[in-house]
Amino acid sequence: MGSSPETEHPVKAFGYAARDSSGALSPIKFSRRETGDEDVRFKVLYCGVCHSDLHSIKNDWHNAKYPMIPGHEIVGVVTEVGSKVKKVKVGDKVGVGCMVGSCRSCDQCVTDQEQYCAKSVQTYNSPAIVTYGGYSDHMVANEHFIISWPKDLPLDGGAPLLCAGITVYSPMRYYGLDKPGMHVAVVGLGGLGHVAVMFLKALGIKVTVISTNPKKKEEATSKLGADSFLVSRDESQMQAVMSTMDGIIDTVSADHPLPPLISLLKPNGKLVLVGAPTKPHEVPAFPLLLGMNLFYLLGRKLVGGSLIGGMKETQEMIEFAAKHKITAAVEVIPIDYINTAMGRLQKSDVRYRFVIDIANSLKST
Ligand code: NAP
Ligand code: ZN
Ligand code: ZN
Repeated sequence: MGSSPETEHPVKAFGYAARDSSGALSPIKFSRRETGDEDVRFKVLYCGVCHSDLHSIKNDWHNAKYPMIPGHEIVGVVTEVGSKVKKVKVGDKVGVGCMVGSCRSCDQCVTDQEQYCAKSVQTYNSPAIVTYGGYSDHMVANEHFIISWPKDLPLDGGAPLLCAGITVYSPMRYYGLDKPGMHVAVVGLGGLGHVAVMFLKALGIKVTVISTNPKKKEEATSKLGADSFLVSRDESQMQAVMSTMDGIIDTVSADHPLPPLISLLKPNGKLVLVGAPTKPHEVPAFPLLLGMNLFYLLGRKLVGGSLIGGMKETQEMIEFAAKHKITAAVEVIPIDYINTAMGRLQKSDVRYRFVIDIANSLKST
């Protein structure tokens, strides 16, 4: 066995990889393991393009391993199952999100929070083990990390739920921002943000979108169902809603100040960060204790974070989405458009998620 991506495993595979921090993606031949007893092998049909893919290929988080085959919003059709697999059979539609492994025995794993397992294995660019993501012809993963696809959920619009969906759903549940009548803001109307709006509305929440782009107002309110829309750079709009929110889900991918958001929270309000900008945020104490303005003696606010979700919760989320007919608004692209798509994603020029039509556009050469 050689150690090159093409020869390290016995099964031939094909995909698109970044070779360096330019992030340019181009075809690659590589290989995947044989189907183990507990493994599910599937042909990839669609793969969403998450902003984390862009951060990763550009090495924004200083942890890139090249060649890197991104993609962690993967749906496909099962082609082979190991002898012990119970969850799915050949021909079933399945999904894989951001994780393909964990220790299965630590406190986090036994309580269905595998995403916080110290040994969790990311779908691609995993630190300890070499893994390759869904910008590729097929996948193989242990059945524990396979999502059974609901019968009526579209594959293309559903794919982004596997990362964008669970990343916003999990904190709504964990931080209790899921009670009908609450007022929750979603900051950043991108891939994660637009799904967050739809989930919150399905839960009976009053939703305010906070965006940098006034042109998104019409879609946010009339298409996605948000109750109101604020432009974050408009101080008077922000002032007018100080101390009115139970929670905020911040999906912003770039540096931005938190104090103006903290000031929007009611006492005991929660600001949950799911976006992963490169620079550390500044979190001053007084706005958490008192609110921005001493006139508003309101505090005990919390700034928290959240990372994707466990496998059990991901399955629950996908069924919740199917039940409420929630899918991402997608722009389906061929794989050879991916570098242009990444350039557009960098500029927030996507309504609201690119999804690669892998089956119809990725051809081995
Ligand atoms: P996206 O589609 O690019 O959306 C990000 C949104 O952030 C943009 O649409 C834009 O919304 C807003 N934004 C961009 N630049 C901004 C700036 N300079 N100031 C203020 N707002 C700005 O990205 P995504 O795929 O939703 O991912 C969002 C972030 O979440 C990324 O950092 C990603 O890595 C991270 N993420 C985290 C997890 C997790 O587990 N925690 C999972 C997936 C992704 P407006 O145009 O409305 O302002
Ligand atoms: Zn993602
Ligand atoms: Zn574990």
